[in-house]
Amino acid sequence: MSDTAPVWNLYINGQWRAPRHEQHDPAYDPSNGTVLAHVARADVEDTRAAIQAARAAFDCGPWATMSPGERSRILHKLVDALEERQAEIADLEMMNGGCTWRKANLMDIPVGLLHFRHFAKLATAEPLEPVPQITFPTLSYNFVRREPIGVCGQIIPWNFPFLMAVWKMAPALAAGNCVILKPASYTPLSALKMMEIIHETGLLPPGVLNLITGPGGVVGPELCTSPLVDKIAFTGSTEVGRQVMIQAASTIKKVTLELGGKSPNIILDDAELDIAIDGSLWATFMHNGQACESGTRLFVPDSLYDKFMDRLLDRASKIKVGLPGDGATDLGPLISAGQLKSVENYIQIGLDEGATPALLGHRPTDPELANGHFLTPTIFTDVRNDMRIAQEEIFGPVLAVIKYDSLEDAIKQANDTIYGLAAGVWSANLERAVSVANKLRAGTVWINDYHLINAEAPFGGYKQSGIGRELGTWGLHEYTEIKHIHADLSRTRQARFWYDILVPTIEE
Ligand code: NAD
Ligand code: MN
Repeated sequence: MSDTAPVWNLYINGQWRAPRHEQHDPAYDPSNGTVLAHVARADVEDTRAAIQAARAAFDCGPWATMSPGERSRILHKLVDALEERQAEIADLEMMNGGCTWRKANLMDIPVGLLHFRHFAKLATAEPLEPVPQITFPTLSYNFVRREPIGVCGQIIPWNFPFLMAVWKMAPALAAGNCVILKPASYTPLSALKMMEIIHETGLLPPGVLNLITGPGGVVGPELCTSPLVDKIAFTGSTEVGRQVMIQAASTIKKVTLELGGKSPNIILDDAELDIAIDGSLWATFMHNGQACESGTRLFVPDSLYDKFMDRLLDRASKIKVGLPGDGATDLGPLISAGQLKSVENYIQIGLDEGATPALLGHRPTDPELANGHFLTPTIFTDVRNDMRIAQEEIFGPVLAVIKYDSLEDAIKQANDTIYGLAAGVWSANLERAVSVANKLRAGTVWINDYHLINAEAPFGGYKQSGIGRELGTWGLHEYTEIKHIHADLSRTRQARFWYDILVPTIEE
């Protein structure tokens, strides 16, 4: 390698190892095309080595059987170490992922650390749960033990690399599992830095946490089909999620899936417009719409429509697309040339379907931005819910506005989608908003807010948006097996429930 960009290897069994074939792939800055690093390209054998390390660490190492208090203490120290170097992580998140400096430093990294901290706390949770008293046929003592599942393969997307890595590894480790993390090929750098920082603490036994970079189509199937892996946690597209589920079926792995979305955002006619208008922009355009739970279908009532849309378009036209490191930039680049093309293709589809481009996105002409994948926001009006731009996940800065006159009808259209990840409802009347929220088929409904994901509350999808939940005790429990232990307290053979069923005939 001729340039000076750093080289990252695979993190297996507590050591950095070159991939077997010594191959590395460039990781880019999507705002200018610079090569930021050369990242190991693992093959199937490398992946197997990571799986074996995790398997051995789980079966023979101290992690799974350590007291919850001790595990919690170690996880808190890991978070301390990451916190100390959060500026470094934020820089990588910005440079490699294309998110703005503001978003990396005000949201992605601090929120990720908060979430990690929450799982460090949850790690102390008593793994024993009571079972209601059982007296049939005589008194017995029953309890449930929550145990780690074992070796977890964890596959994440490129849009929120640090946060997604935290959502995967923190609950898995808190529950006593061993992990193989596979970051997305576009954005491995913050997770690699995280591994470096964790490695330097020397606190995790070898093999508990492994990181493999490489093509999803090679590493993914090995993780999903290996008999040594007990669980797959996947975040990514519904299409690849379906493959993951099929592959995991061969060994009946536990699977959690966080997949795509096309979330409705419903403005009620009594909404506080100042907040709802900016909130709707935030719901759609945060990180250029490259978020699974973005509120990309905006339902606006007839009675407010003109006023609402005038102000929304005015505000949207002022969104500043620019270099992520510039403090004045609202939106940076899209992740890749391919993503940019795909979004532009959807804009063309919207035009062909007859939607009105009230704001038509374009590639900025500023020469400073010429080598990045930049695109300004698009807002389509006159959208019908059955158009492709209202049904398919675009994953870019494109908003589809649907006018409604009856709220019941808006709710029906909102639910008319294969997805069910999230939704927004804006109203000054909380009871009314809650009654709408109750009717929406989605895993998270925000009332008078959007994109706020707390460590304490569950996140995940209805329908084709996924299986299982992340965060909170719900998320922790996705990384546990449930063992029921039954202890009979009666003293005689005759008191056993089976005595009259089998034994008398033997004794005759
Ligand atoms: P993707 O599905 O293309 O890739 C996700 C991950 O899967 C990557 O690490 C990729 O390398 C890997 N992969 C590719 N082929 C694989 C295979 N055959 N087997 C196993 N793994 C494989 O998704 P993306 O483009 O990285 O991310 C965008 C998608 O992620 C969007 O659909 C978005 O909605 C979704 N997403 C969902 C959530 C959520 O929590 N629901 C969060 C973020 C992103
Ligand atoms: Mn993809």
